[in-house]
Amino acid sequence: MVQESPETAIYNKIHRAIAERRLLPGSRLIEDQLAEVFGVSRMRIRWVLQSLARDKVVTLHRNRGACVAEPTVKEAKEVFGARRLIEGALAREVVRATDDKALKKLKAHIKKEITAEKSHDRAMELRTSHDFHTLLAEIVGNSVLVDYLRELMARSALITAIFERPDVSVCSHFTHSRLIELIEKRDEQGLVDAMLGHLNEIESYLTLYEKEERPVDIKTIFSGL
Ligand SMILES: [Zn+2]
Repeated sequence: MVQESPETAIYNKIHRAIAERRLLPGSRLIEDQLAEVFGVSRMRIRWVLQSLARDKVVTLHRNRGACVAEPTVKEAKEVFGARRLIEGALAREVVRATDDKALKKLKAHIKKEITAEKSHDRAMELRTSHDFHTLLAEIVGNSVLVDYLRELMARSALITAIFERPDVSVCSHFTHSRLIELIEKRDEQGLVDAMLGHLNEIESYLTLYEKEERPVDIKTIFSGL
């Protein structure tokens, strides 16, 4: 296994704490505290916070420093609206562009999703299931759309983590396997309908998230990790 860098390890720990709602939207992420907790320099923490900000998981404020992003319900709806437009339109192209090699890749990804679903690591599970959607854009081979999808998937993963009902996962290997079956049958309209149905279903399982106003103790959250 490839050794992950200290920055990547810290990125993953913070991302996981956010996805598991141990760190709530709007919570302040103080560089000094994080540097002490993770035993690294402030420079490294700053780098991690900037990466998290690029993925829209963290918001950087000029005066307040870094905070966990607070996607609104409106933003959640807009992200899913954009996903329906792009992924719905892309579905036909996916069917046309998929060859044997691409099909193998998609099926191999299902195995990764099954492993992630068994891991009980919700952040990893969300990343893997969202990667399936980016993979479809990669098959079409339009790099502009791949970039759009990557950003959209990072935002969608955070929104799903924040707004989802506990113990409900609809973006799963099971649904994705059904999408692959339609691709294999070369059913363009079938894939368009199934993709839109899939995205509607994910959105329908999201609920309004009530923000809790309570102080956050960074040291307690990361103790024992
Ligand atoms: Zn999905």
